[in-house]
Amino acid sequence: MSHILEPIELYTAEDRLDIQRAYRRLLKSIKTPMTDADKHDIRRAYELAVEAHSPQRRKSGEAYILHPIEVARICAEEIGLGATAIVAALLHDTVEDTTITLPVIRSQFGEKVEEIVNGLTKLEDAYDSESPQAENIKKILGTLIIDVRIVLIKMADRLHNMRTLGSMPQHKQLKIAAETEFIYAPLAHRLGLYNVRSEFLDLCLKITHRDEYNDIAQKLNETKRERASYIHDFIEPIEEQLDEEAIKYRISGRPKSIYSIWNKIKQKHCKFEDIYDLFAIRIIIDVPIEREKADCWAAYSIVTSVHTPMPERLKDWVTIPKSNGYESLHTTVIGPEGRFVEVQIRSERMDEIAERGYAAHWKYKNIKRQEDVFERWFDQVRKSLEEAGDGNTVDFVNDFKTTNLFAEEVYVYTPKGDMKILPKGATALDFAFYIHSDLGMHCQAVKINNKLVPLGYKLQHGDQISVETNAKRRPSEDWLKWVVTGKAREKIRQALREEAKKIADFGKEALQRKFEHMKVEFEPSIEVVMKHFGFKSRHDFFLAISNEAIDLQDDLKIFKIEKNRLQPVEEEEKSPNTTSDSRSKSTKPAIKTELFINGQPAKEYLYELADCCRPVQGDDVFAYITTNNIYKIHRIACNNAPNLMAHYGHRITKAEWGASTAGNFIAELQIIGVDTGPGVIERLSNRISNDLGLNIRSFSIEGNEGYFEGRVKLVINHRDQLTTAIKSLKAIEGISNVVRID
Ligand code: MN
Repeated sequence: MSHILEPIELYTAEDRLDIQRAYRRLLKSIKTPMTDADKHDIRRAYELAVEAHSPQRRKSGEAYILHPIEVARICAEEIGLGATAIVAALLHDTVEDTTITLPVIRSQFGEKVEEIVNGLTKLEDAYDSESPQAENIKKILGTLIIDVRIVLIKMADRLHNMRTLGSMPQHKQLKIAAETEFIYAPLAHRLGLYNVRSEFLDLCLKITHRDEYNDIAQKLNETKRERASYIHDFIEPIEEQLDEEAIKYRISGRPKSIYSIWNKIKQKHCKFEDIYDLFAIRIIIDVPIEREKADCWAAYSIVTSVHTPMPERLKDWVTIPKSNGYESLHTTVIGPEGRFVEVQIRSERMDEIAERGYAAHWKYKNIKRQEDVFERWFDQVRKSLEEAGDGNTVDFVNDFKTTNLFAEEVYVYTPKGDMKILPKGATALDFAFYIHSDLGMHCQAVKINNKLVPLGYKLQHGDQISVETNAKRRPSEDWLKWVVTGKAREKIRQALREEAKKIADFGKEALQRKFEHMKVEFEPSIEVVMKHFGFKSRHDFFLAISNEAIDLQDDLKIFKIEKNRLQPVEEEEKSPNTTSDSRSKSTKPAIKTELFINGQPAKEYLYELADCCRPVQGDDVFAYITTNNIYKIHRIACNNAPNLMAHYGHRITKAEWGASTAGNFIAELQIIGVDTGPGVIERLSNRISNDLGLNIRSFSIEGNEGYFEGRVKLVINHRDQLTTAIKSLKAIEGISNVVRID
């Protein structure tokens, strides 16, 4: 079709100027070297796309083709991709939205471009459908291991769509923001695209918390001059010394992203004015690769001779890079007026990797000959996808997010001194599963640096870990609370499923024997019995029989037998005030407190506090509108929150607590301690009732071989009380951790 030269009447003269301008901007942005063939391919892809998209316009009214051209420019300029990706980006919407087919692309641009465009077509957004996001995420990861450029182009696509989101309806914006925050921002982080990630998060914040976003942006702007003069005073003496040492460098003070400032305000419950580290100083030195480490430390030594460092804040990713390839030396020093200032020191090469992540890393790979951190990660992704198979996708995605995406890491050692890298937050039990499934399954006890620790102990840098096993040991339901890695979780769940299946089979056999004895047919009778006792699944019913929740001797006596079948029992009319109903209400905390939904007093809505996370006064919360229009109040920190937001962004609405009021809430704490003699319960309950003046609703404690786990339910009326209680309990000797349970 492209050989027929027909005038493209659907573009106006103005359109054509815009299109040519955008194309020239794209060509100028290309940084990687191009052959003549590359340039020719880009030109042909451009022409094909211009023609194919000619009838289409975006919601804003501009010609659609400007979108793929801009996506290609982002790929070239902001992500640092080469010719193949630029060609694919230009064509990325043709198969989905125009008459161009994959075979046409294959014949004109080859197999690789076809593969990438095909991958992108499959990832096409479907904002309108209630599509299960978890499935989408699995799809995205699937394309990641085919060719990482598919995901990188998809990110450029998403970035451009979000930059130009203004003309979309609000609920679609919210959905796009939720999905971006849920999967694309962490993926960008994992692929080392720091700028893309922080822009994603800023754009999401602008959609979800517009007022707060504008407020911070405005204040940043107002304080600009004061900041510039402070930065000047801070770096001047450093520059003098760097010049003396004849180090080639550039230095800058960059404001932190609005999202990270907003996040800090939330976490520390403070005001914008209370945040001092609104910026970070970055020193980038121009140095050959073999000297970069020495010169980074030379610069560090200069910085810390001028300003007093806080040694515990030193982070050395020059010696051991992060798993997303990031290399840099970070430290925090005390600057003029006693303010904390973060300083980042890195070489030009490290800076390029930090800014462009994967693409830059790839460029330097052969020079530095270090282990390919990305290949290792892709292998991991491939393995997790295989292990997950067609199992529960939502579980898979959640596990994947905690262990593979937010990959802050912890470095630990085996008894032989081999270093192992686990995700931060991983526990002793995770370590056992990480080394080998069998070691995990039969894990009896774990020693860190020769001291017994609870299985849920959170690993610390430098821990040396040995695992003791016992062939009889089997995972229990509790183990799921003590692990965070997907592998451990999946293995434990699998073991629990097998165990449950065995137990259910016992129940089934018992029922079969009973029915034989009663001389009734199995099939119709079981349905009658299940219905009577309110079971929906046979598995659960068989379990109940095994656990003797259903007593086969007594409980079946109420049924009559007719024609070899059990007959339904005729039930008495239920009174309107059934006891079960009033019972379920009384277990919920009495809501006397002031809550606002969408700025209105909550009592104007039908609302409930969510059972999964039990929000209390002072928690950051949001409302989720259920299908029957009940406003469920969840904590933002609730485990279900990311899911709800990603799946049902349009049903999420704002909720917040009023300034002051009293109401009682119940919060549950898990308390873990090690090696404490008797009397620990007394010490704990003394601290809670006498020192803290709190009421205890319930208290249970279990011990096992040198450690114990306790659970206590407290009556509190504000989140601050809970924070104080946790701190105070942690300080008791022998207590190793206290956490709030959802
Ligand atoms: Mn697109």
